[in-house]
Amino acid sequence: MLWKDGVPELEEIKQFTPNKQRLISGPVAIIECFQEIPCDPCYVSCSFGAILPFENINALPQIDFELCNGCGNCVALCPGIAIFVVDLSYCDNSALLKLPHEFVPLPEKGETVSLLNRRGEIVAKDRVIRCVKFKDKTSVVWVTTPKELAMEIRAIAPKAYEIENPLRELV
Ligand code: SF4
Ligand code: SF4
Repeated sequence: MLWKDGVPELEEIKQFTPNKQRLISGPVAIIECFQEIPCDPCYVSCSFGAILPFENINALPQIDFELCNGCGNCVALCPGIAIFVVDLSYCDNSALLKLPHEFVPLPEKGETVSLLNRRGEIVAKDRVIRCVKFKDKTSVVWVTTPKELAMEIRAIAPKAYEIENPLRELV
């Protein structure tokens, strides 16, 4: 539970996520930033007007999902690693996620990586489609994932972590 252990449940983040129709229509950014802190690089990063002007520097970010094209610029600019792009339209069986990644070595295109849920549990292994490196910004790794886990997976495991923590048994 978000306010108890810092990990939001799907039910708690419903108000911050697009409706089902928007989710299946194409890539879209999901902002999981729940604390009022003086921060706004996400707003500056979006040249499509999808992230709305802040009421004040401490306000929570607001996004217009209809203006978002899922480019992922805000993923690279967010210092809180709180933005993720989800694309449920990627193909029949898989979704595409654009995830922030600050560990080295960065995974390579075509590599199979372990994927973590919000609790840091490895819940799937899937393939890197692209790795976008920016100077002085967070890298963004594009990775496929089973569609049913697209709203659960939020990070790629660093290699050392992967060795010590096996894939969680899915029920
Ligand atoms: S993914 Fe691109 S279009 Fe969408 S909010 Fe982020 S920067 Fe704007
Ligand atoms: S840049 Fe990231 S941490 Fe800062 S307000 Fe935006 S979403 Fe939150």
